[in-house]
Amino acid sequence: MGYKYIFGPVFSGRIGRSLGLDLLGKRICSMDCVYCEVGTTDSLVTVRRPYVPATVLLEELENWKQEGHIVPDVITLGGLGEPTLNSDLPEIICGVKKLFPSLPVAVLTNATPMTDPEVRRELLEADIVLPSMDSLVASEFRAINRPCKGIDPEDVAKALIEFRKEFKGKIFLEVLLSKGYNDSAENLSKMKDFCSELSPDRIDVVTLSRPGTLDTSGPVNSGTLDVWKKALDAAPCIDRECGPDNGAKERNSSDISAPVQGEDSAAFDRIQASLMRRPQTAQQLSKALEISFDGVIQAIEELEKSGRLTKRQTGDEIYYKFGPDG
Ligand code: SF4
Repeated sequence: MGYKYIFGPVFSGRIGRSLGLDLLGKRICSMDCVYCEVGTTDSLVTVRRPYVPATVLLEELENWKQEGHIVPDVITLGGLGEPTLNSDLPEIICGVKKLFPSLPVAVLTNATPMTDPEVRRELLEADIVLPSMDSLVASEFRAINRPCKGIDPEDVAKALIEFRKEFKGKIFLEVLLSKGYNDSAENLSKMKDFCSELSPDRIDVVTLSRPGTLDTSGPVNSGTLDVWKKALDAAPCIDRECGPDNGAKERNSSDISAPVQGEDSAAFDRIQASLMRRPQTAQQLSKALEISFDGVIQAIEELEKSGRLTKRQTGDEIYYKFGPDG
């Protein structure tokens, strides 16, 4: 069956084969990052609401479980915006753990709602928290992350350090560098101090590898990336979400024999749902969703014909993104 709020699994270089839960349903976020892969934020807010109620999300997850899919490595709360803005977060974490007691629950977050002690308390129930922090220079933070008014990066950094004191799980920090936005020496110096105080379990310094919201956002060169990685003692290089270091068995697309679109509309729905959350190549979709490469191509052609998909060349790869370009 098709799902509205469950997507993937997708391969993540950081956490493995990850089944995604979308806690927003729409592009609702406290930031509007220039590099965002899901596109421009439609509702730039800090207010917490049950944007997707826990009961609805957990019912979908229960149905997904009953369908007998291959069990992922982790269940990740994320989606089309900032998942901790969903005020049903505690019920969702608890419900996921009841349905999949042996799987870790990860939460992707831009960390801005964590200035609220209540959000920090709720996140203590997760197993892995993956915050992002791109700049501690206020002007850079405003330029790259375009946050809601009143959000100060130093407050967010302090909130993360508070959280670290109590949290028993793992913190995987991500720093995304965009050329000319946040690759300054001033930011590097502040981030070094912050990382040494936070002492996360893992630091990933990455740059854009897929289309962002704005064409002005571009990657830094490998030399800059190396300097930052060394300075912050970051983990070895990964592709942000679909890296080859995911531990999964590599295989050719021709090995994958799941049904093709046309024979199985559920496969088409899964491809569409996955592309709505993250631009991907046909190969990545085929591998992560375990749908034949031909099936993915058929679905892509159909989506392109109906004008719902945009194609963009990044290096040697062709990424497909849901919705219009820009
Ligand atoms: S990248 Fe994350 S934090 Fe930034 S706008 Fe997109 S969903 Fe929000």
